[in-house]
Amino acid sequence: MVDIETVAIVGAGTMGSGIAHVFARSGFQVLLFDVEQRFLDRALGQIRTNLGREAAKGKLDAAEVETALARITATVDRDALTNAEFAVEAAPERFEMKAEIFRALDRILPESAILASNTSSISITRLGALTGRAAQVIGMHFFNPVPVMALVEVVRGLATSDSTYATVHELSVLVGKTPVEVSDAPGFVSNRVLMPLINEAAFAVMEGVATPEAIDQVFKLGMAHPMGPLTLADFIGLDVCVDILRVLQEGFGDPKYRPCPLLVRMVDAGWLGRKSGRGFYTYQKQFL
Ligand code: NAD
Repeated sequence: MVDIETVAIVGAGTMGSGIAHVFARSGFQVLLFDVEQRFLDRALGQIRTNLGREAAKGKLDAAEVETALARITATVDRDALTNAEFAVEAAPERFEMKAEIFRALDRILPESAILASNTSSISITRLGALTGRAAQVIGMHFFNPVPVMALVEVVRGLATSDSTYATVHELSVLVGKTPVEVSDAPGFVSNRVLMPLINEAAFAVMEGVATPEAIDQVFKLGMAHPMGPLTLADFIGLDVCVDILRVLQEGFGDPKYRPCPLLVRMVDAGWLGRKSGRGFYTYQKQFL
């Protein structure tokens, strides 16, 4: 049984707020850190709304919503994380930023604490090597929206110990997720397999093989995907897709991962998908 009561979440954006939600809902004390109070306020509002949605579906009652919220302490003071026995970093996907955070967490948290990253593509082995506890550094890759999606890719760095893996496997189950073990390679499994599919779909649009609607229909009706690859790309963000493809291209040194020029042009135009109102499809304001 894991002996962890207090969890630090570093970064309270889309993913950090969802991760805080599932840990608090599962009985953990959560220390939620971000660099500015307004990001914490936004996250707490989001968590309250999403817990309310779960309550409306009968998954928990009103008192449990308040109990879960009361387990979350939001702070802009990183030193307030000193009591955490486990940390999940969910800051922006930039290596230098994560490097600074991992060095700081290594300094601040107890020696026994495990440091996890929710990174989509940065090497866990590299992050681990920046700390004095590489055996206790691991990837815990949640999926968006965190309260809804069942998967956690648990990513073992080269130095990650078996006991660290076992703890994070168990924690994933305790927060209601299904862990899948993967090794530390560019894009892990999810993005390594998904991004070439999205990229190829973009090439098919660029070459006039079919419309986005037709391509998505092929995958929905022919392969029973709940949404087609271009709808999914708009949901993820076309800028994020291009960034991940570049990580794959660089990490493997293989031109087969080069981002489709149409994707790059769309990003240059500010057509980033749902979040900007236009990608392969256009979106009404209420869906943003
Ligand atoms: P986001 O931009 O929504 O949130 C990032 C948060 O980190 C912001 O609130 C920002 O203020 C905060 N932040 C900035 N600098 C910080 C610092 N020095 N210390 C602590 N917090 C800081 O980003 P996101 O979409 O939640 O992504 C976070 C991580 O999760 C990234 O590594 C991303 O690759 C990964 N991820 C994202 C998704 C997704 O679908 N969005 C899915 C899986 C994994």
